[in-house]
Amino acid sequence: MRQFQDKKVLVTGGSRGIGKSIARAFADQGARVAINYRSNAAAAADCLRELGGKGNIALQADIADPAQAAMLVEDAISGLGGLDIVVNNAGIYLWHPIATADFSDWIAAWRQTIDTNLLAAASICYCAAQHMMRHGGGRIVNVSSRGAFRGEPDGPAYGASKAGLNALSQSLAIALAPHNIFVGVVAPGFVETDMAAEWLEGERGDAIRAQSPLGRVARPEEVAHAVLFLASPGAEFTTGTIIDVNGASYLRS
Ligand code: NAP
Repeated sequence: MRQFQDKKVLVTGGSRGIGKSIARAFADQGARVAINYRSNAAAAADCLRELGGKGNIALQADIADPAQAAMLVEDAISGLGGLDIVVNNAGIYLWHPIATADFSDWIAAWRQTIDTNLLAAASICYCAAQHMMRHGGGRIVNVSSRGAFRGEPDGPAYGASKAGLNALSQSLAIALAPHNIFVGVVAPGFVETDMAAEWLEGERGDAIRAQSPLGRVARPEEVAHAVLFLASPGAEFTTGTIIDVNGASYLRS
């Protein structure tokens, strides 16, 4: 029996990068997965093909819009026939250094980042929790970032959005435990995906890899491994925890 046999899982931003690895790892363990994406339908179709099996679906929604986020949860529930696990993985990073960004760009970056990285997760947690509370419980895993702790000098809204996501997750861990809903967080450092490609392939690439004593950044599967652990049977008492997946590049205690 595979660990997530017949579990119904929604992964936001599940069409590429870390989300795709998370979707694949759940599918490999027997789950039925709904992958959400914003606009790249071709990547979502490729991902769905790679997942193989039956019953996986791709759902387009711009989750920065709360109405679309709510509809996404409804569509996932009806398309999968229920919802046991939600992974809030979709996120964006926008460059807006305070020394050079003009005020309107600064505000636009803050709004877009908070709407995508924090408000979307809050919307989806709300809608998913309503379903889970009526159906005996569930799991929520949120994908945060090392930047929440270490700071993001060129993308302060990103760091703030992920710190907010950590606080949201921990508040919900307390609020939802009596309803048998457990909430965990995974906080990666740099990961080999499109989001980080420009840095990793650029002149700072070697310095970034050297931040870890392993001399490299994370692979998406390594983040997925931590996500599946938090969603697995037996991990209930870890609720409220934040797992670092940063290769000891930033240590906190
Ligand atoms: P990625 O390769 O850029 O992929 C982003 C995914 O999110 C895509 O599927 C994208 O869909 C989707 N997405 C973005 N905005 C969306 C929206 N408004 N509505 C719905 N879907 C949306 O990103 P990644 O590197 O895998 O990152 C995944 C998560 O890990 C993010 O939360 C990120 O902050 C976090 N993280 C990443 C790193 C890193 O180094 N890569 C480090 C720490 C944390 P489309 O393709 O359709 O746009």
